[in-house]
Amino acid sequence: MVDYTFIRKDVIKRQTVIEGILEVQSPLRIGVGKFGGMDPASIARDTVLKDAEGTPIIPGSSWKGVFRSEGERVLKRRNLITCSGVGRDYCLNNFRKYDDFQRSLRENYIEDALKTFWNYTCLNCKLFGTMSVIGAVKFLESRAIEFKLGTRTMVAISRTEGAAARGALVQVEFVEPGSKFTFKIIGNNLPNYAIGYLLTIMKNIHDGFVQIGGHKSRGFGLVKFVNLRFLDKGEKKIGDEDIPVSMQDEIKEDGDKFFEKMKPFMEAFNNAKIPYPVH
Ligand SMILES: [Zn+2]
Repeated sequence: MVDYTFIRKDVIKRQTVIEGILEVQSPLRIGVGKFGGMDPASIARDTVLKDAEGTPIIPGSSWKGVFRSEGERVLKRRNLITCSGVGRDYCLNNFRKYDDFQRSLRENYIEDALKTFWNYTCLNCKLFGTMSVIGAVKFLESRAIEFKLGTRTMVAISRTEGAAARGALVQVEFVEPGSKFTFKIIGNNLPNYAIGYLLTIMKNIHDGFVQIGGHKSRGFGLVKFVNLRFLDKGEKKIGDEDIPVSMQDEIKEDGDKFFEKMKPFMEAFNNAKIPYPVH
């Protein structure tokens, strides 16, 4: 019998929280995403996403996108099969198992549904979710706790026409370097190697290999974790393929030291024999 705890939503045997403070290192732009149709004769303003009180935010969905796409690179480097999760490129569809899976769910064959989902989805689908299945990790919205806003005038790219609208300038608002944001992810039933995988992605962000938000080619979107906290409750090994990791239940450290201490999880990811997707 395969241990499906990692993908089960009906029991919580382990809860893992990673949270901390993020410091912006280069201009950061999480846009509102709707500046098509502006008047080419005037200077338009493209503002950053803010909450009702005017505080810049990074939505959980943006984090999920960043983790998923960087994760895809990390998994491919380990020669593991994965999907982008974009459009029709998701594992259940790629393995032609989506209909089987839906039928098992509809007819209440839960064990069959678990088996199909286990065998025919990648680590990204299991962690971040896929069509009609929520992921094992939840990304909370990041809120600025200290911030300054800046603007830069740029040539606008019309999203509707896909070309630079001649002469149209846009005032692009961004969050200034030095600004700080909250960061928090909550994972349920995560194997040690999945925790290590998330930490690997976070370290790549921290080390400047991954940018977040818009205008990456202009060097925007570099961030660092200035302090982090790991909090782990429940079982310490999830699933047959998991690798034991000896770690305290709570770790609080500043950025670099935190990733140093969490190395055993990242090693578990590097060494785990991940048995899915089967092919
Ligand atoms: Zn997948």
